[in-house]
Amino acid sequence: MQGLLPEKIEMSSLAETAGKRTMRLHTITLGCQMSAADGAEMSGPLYKRGFSAADSPQNADAILINTCTVRQHAEDRAVSLIGSLKPWKNEDPNRVLIVTGCAAERLGEWIRKKFPHVDLIVGAKSIEQFPEIVEETLNRRFDALSENREAFGACPGADAGLDKELFSSPVLGATAPGAPVADFVTIMRGCNYSCSYCIVPLVRGREHYRPVEDILEEARRKTAAGVKEITLLGQTVNSYSSTREGRKINFSGLLELVDQTPRLQRLRFMSPHPYYVDDRMIGAIARLRTVCELLHLPVQSGSDRLLKLMRRNYTRDSYLQKVEKIRRAIAGVAISTDFIVGFPSETEEEFAQTLSLVEILRPVCAYCFKYSPRESTESAAWPDDVPVRVKEERLERLNKLVDSMTATALQEQIGKTLEVLSEQSNFGRTRDGFKVKWNAPAPIGERLPVKITAAAPRILLGETADEI
Ligand code: SF4
Repeated sequence: MQGLLPEKIEMSSLAETAGKRTMRLHTITLGCQMSAADGAEMSGPLYKRGFSAADSPQNADAILINTCTVRQHAEDRAVSLIGSLKPWKNEDPNRVLIVTGCAAERLGEWIRKKFPHVDLIVGAKSIEQFPEIVEETLNRRFDALSENREAFGACPGADAGLDKELFSSPVLGATAPGAPVADFVTIMRGCNYSCSYCIVPLVRGREHYRPVEDILEEARRKTAAGVKEITLLGQTVNSYSSTREGRKINFSGLLELVDQTPRLQRLRFMSPHPYYVDDRMIGAIARLRTVCELLHLPVQSGSDRLLKLMRRNYTRDSYLQKVEKIRRAIAGVAISTDFIVGFPSETEEEFAQTLSLVEILRPVCAYCFKYSPRESTESAAWPDDVPVRVKEERLERLNKLVDSMTATALQEQIGKTLEVLSEQSNFGRTRDGFKVKWNAPAPIGERLPVKITAAAPRILLGETADEI
């Protein structure tokens, strides 16, 4: 995967609908933004069926865990979470536990045997079939229970069957009630690369692209519901390719189309592969009104030998040349990136090349990870020969350098008045991705000028201003 972001747990927590008690769903997603977007997408059919959101697992009739397998740690957390829900299920066997996503794809059979309390396992390659699969399971489970059938009576569409139009469409992204200010739109799934360390192509399969119309429709639906900022998601988001009215549409063309979405204020994307960054894409980012000036461009290493071993399909120089072009074309663009340290056979000299690349790149932030082999990947067959303490020590040095770049970038904002999109009454983000807190409450979902007065370790502090 491109954006190897730290695993995190996100839990939906929306209010139960009023009146008759409806069934309640609690969604837990582990992993990157792609996983969070998939978790929201898969919750859609359940909300459509009449579930409301539970504020905790304990209050839920169904729990959906969308898992991640990109690193061993993420997989371990998924397994331990599934195990910990056994008492929850035992308390009421009518409850439904659904496990989906990348770890479900890789470990499906094992999970089935080890955790018989899991009702449904749907791997990452079957996400698009999820609505039909979950419908069948719920029909089997709930239609057999008159009590639950009655509960579903509160749900429009329960008697008439499910919303087939939604379910038969690849446009799944039905969100829970209460649209957030910023949301995701998945534009493609899978990856045609075979980076030697990466398990994603094995669990997600080859690239397939959503039709342009479906993407535009989802963007329009979300902005009509109040979303102001959309992030387009894909494993290598800028390798997107489709057709519309007989015309080929690549990623830049898609940016141009999504940019015209009514009421859209900001457009972001995650994560581009450096290989597919071309002049047209740079031009589109520079020119288009909504596209924000923040580019997450994973590099992984500063050593050509390691980049080749990783099968990244670019060199240190070609990467840096692209960054140079981006900086020339897009005023004030912020760059962030990913690194892997301690890749098999990495020498101290090669690690020093990574540090020197950081000095040239000056990223506003970087996600840095110690290499750990993932079963069935190419590099898992190679000796994992960088000792753990060396990996840890290199990671610490790299993080320290990156942190100093982040601190400098934050300091450089002091005194400027920046456009902030408010996600909470006194918290929001700038176009180039900095988090900002300010003094006086402001309406949520508004763009407002904030004068930056100070920088805390990972956030800017400021005061609302009259104009930029
Ligand atoms: S194989 Fe490479 S490009 Fe594809 S998801 Fe993994 S790291 Fe990203």
